[in-house]
Amino acid sequence: MNLNLESKVILVSGGAKGIGGAISRGLIEEGACPVIIDPSEKEGKDLVDFAGGNALHLPIRLFSADQAKEVLSQAIERFGRIDGLVNNAGANDGVGLENGSPEAFAQSLSNNLFHYYHLAHYSLPYLKKSKGSIVNISSKTAVTGQGGTSGYVAAKGAQLALTREWAVELLPYQIRVNAILPAEVYTPMYDSWIQSFSNPQKKLEEINQKIPLGRRMTTPEEIAAMAIFLLSEKASHITGQHLYVDGGYTHLDRSL
Ligand code: NAP
Repeated sequence: MNLNLESKVILVSGGAKGIGGAISRGLIEEGACPVIIDPSEKEGKDLVDFAGGNALHLPIRLFSADQAKEVLSQAIERFGRIDGLVNNAGANDGVGLENGSPEAFAQSLSNNLFHYYHLAHYSLPYLKKSKGSIVNISSKTAVTGQGGTSGYVAAKGAQLALTREWAVELLPYQIRVNAILPAEVYTPMYDSWIQSFSNPQKKLEEINQKIPLGRRMTTPEEIAAMAIFLLSEKASHITGQHLYVDGGYTHLDRSL
């Protein structure tokens, strides 16, 4: 299948490591040019090298609207067009009702949600020209809850609502908007969470046993495959969808 992504310019927030890193790498393999917005210096540089220079790394930790404006200005200066946006950057930061505060909650929304809007807002004039596509990376926690993480889960739920809202608003421009809900994906973020348990290996085994398909984690590359498909013209009649790439974790019968 030819995805026809050659030379397409795709913004990927948090695009140097974990799920975002796999998306950037997959895009490069398809001949696309990712704009990798991520503070991780070494991983960002490695991806630009892997792309033979046909990628841009912007070492920015997104939180303000001005930063998103700057991202767009640098991306346009370098490539002159935007064909897609993957909103992916975020962290499960454990700001709960009991273990949080109003200030920490607001900060968590800033780290996890506001930059999704900022990047979409400032990309829009360019996405209109290219009839581009937006992919929002949310989380199954938006529909199952997790406990102790109000800020992150509020952001993840809002990302699902915005996916539908933007899909409707952008119909006249043929811009498609979809969300992916990962559940358990072994990434640097996941690893640091697992390491917080007294017996990380045992905890990992317990979680694996609860994943119906294959009793294993989803790989970052399996999330990336869905994101890259959704960005491509092969997904030309898919919009406003919430796609679970989770080995059946969220929906299948737990007694299986
Ligand atoms: P990860 O391993 O921590 O990788 C995320 C990358 O994004 C890191 O390089 C991180 O840099 C960067 N980043 C974080 N906040 C940023 C910001 N504000 N601006 C720019 N870059 C930022 O995380 P991941 O597991 O791949 O998660 C990616 C997305 O998938 C997140 O939206 C997460 O909620 C979602 N997700 C993941 C899982 C899972 O099981 N892994 C499950 C459900 C949903 P630093 O390392 O320097 O912070």
